[in-house]
Amino acid sequence: MQSDYDVIVVGAGPGGSWAAKTAAEKGAQVLLLEKDREVGVPVRCGEAIGTASLRAVCEPEPLPRGIANGISGAVLVAPNGREVVLDWGQEVGAILDRKVFDYELSLMAAAQGVEIRTKAYVYDVIRNGANGNGSISGVRVQHLGKNYDVRAKIVIGADGIESRVGRFAGLRTFTKLKDMESCMQVTLANVTNIDRRYIYLLFGREVAPGGYLWIFPKSETVANVGIGISGEYARHKSAQRYLQEFIDRRFPKAAAVYTVVGGVTCAPTLEKIVADGVMLVGDAAHQINPMSGGGIVTAMLAGKIAGRVAAAAIARDDFSSQSLEPYAQEWHAAQGKNHERLYKIKQAVYKFTDDELNRTAEAVLAKKPEERTLINVFKAALIRHPSLIFDVLKVFMS
Ligand SMILES: Cc1cc2nc3c(=O)[nH]c(=O)nc-3n(C[C@H](O)[C@H](O)[C@H](O)COP(=O)(O)OP(=O)(O)OC[C@H]3O[C@@H](n4cnc5c(N)ncnc54)[C@H](O)[C@@H]3O)c2cc1C
Repeated sequence: MQSDYDVIVVGAGPGGSWAAKTAAEKGAQVLLLEKDREVGVPVRCGEAIGTASLRAVCEPEPLPRGIANGISGAVLVAPNGREVVLDWGQEVGAILDRKVFDYELSLMAAAQGVEIRTKAYVYDVIRNGANGNGSISGVRVQHLGKNYDVRAKIVIGADGIESRVGRFAGLRTFTKLKDMESCMQVTLANVTNIDRRYIYLLFGREVAPGGYLWIFPKSETVANVGIGISGEYARHKSAQRYLQEFIDRRFPKAAAVYTVVGGVTCAPTLEKIVADGVMLVGDAAHQINPMSGGGIVTAMLAGKIAGRVAAAAIARDDFSSQSLEPYAQEWHAAQGKNHERLYKIKQAVYKFTDDELNRTAEAVLAKKPEERTLINVFKAALIRHPSLIFDVLKVFMS
């Protein structure tokens, strides 16, 4: 490890690897630091992605390997058990094998000249100024039992939901309890009666209050089965209890081969995601889709924009927050604005009673199968909230 780089990226998740790769591609000298011993492990994710958005962010790269199963539709299950099947007739999504996927992304970064260190825990930042209270100019990292000070013109915090880089930089990273989804997931073997072409999303107060329960098939007999509920509801009954009760009912013979517990911030992007010499990317910046809780591809998109803007700032020799601000603006135009709309829609949808959800399912089932589209589901659900229909249309049209 050298003592000086153009860019240091903290965290080798999808956001970090993609930021590092893009900055290196554009000529910056980049160090990527990951606290765990292996990129991609442990997995804390349902592993579902939309293939079109993944392709868009990888273009013109080949798609990274690590796709376990192709998905061509979704089964939405109402509280009364009625199922609405949305079938796109072609592959529109996938369930990843994130161990392989994340690892592959880091190899793609390495191929562009990014230097990578694992078992490298960033425990503090270095600041400019005689009193150590100026802008950030590097990180303090513990690597294989030794502490190092490593300087950089720009530090990119891609250190996930528990991001410390943001707080070190004095950015407001606070999340309201209601916006913090409490998640639990198990990978189950020996699941029966699922169609591997579809993801299953189950709604209702008894199943997943203020959130949803998912079944994401990785094969005919293996699936990620998980739940995300608002922190407010989790105070009364834990996500684990809701999930276990469901598994006991639906998959009594299944074996749990992997367990994940974690939080997801389902809120709009942080107000400020840049500071002098610092950028935040992915979960660290709250760039998760607040409706679905999906953050893999959005982290990569943000990483791609951040890496490009960082390299341009290096070329200009200006690492001030103004110089890095185009990253925040581009992100906002590309996804941030949509996330604000989705957040408003989510707030309305998650307040629905079971009766309203059942009525929505019946309204969609009354339509011809070819008219049962996601946009029509939202329109049926929000019939009593006409102002939100415009937000739905804008999200789907953008
Ligand atoms: C239960 C659950 C299910 C989910 N399901 C889905 C899904 O189906 N689809 C989807 O798109 N998203 C899903 N998500 C969200 C998704 O996992 C994240 O949005 C995505 O991983 C964000 O990528 P990232 O690069 O920002 O952060 P991460 O993938 O979290 O990567 C951050 C990295 O930083 C490292 N790190 C942290 N601190 C330090 C430090 N101090 N020093 C060095 N390294 C550090 C971590 O070890 C980690 O490798 C789910 C999340 C959970 C919890």
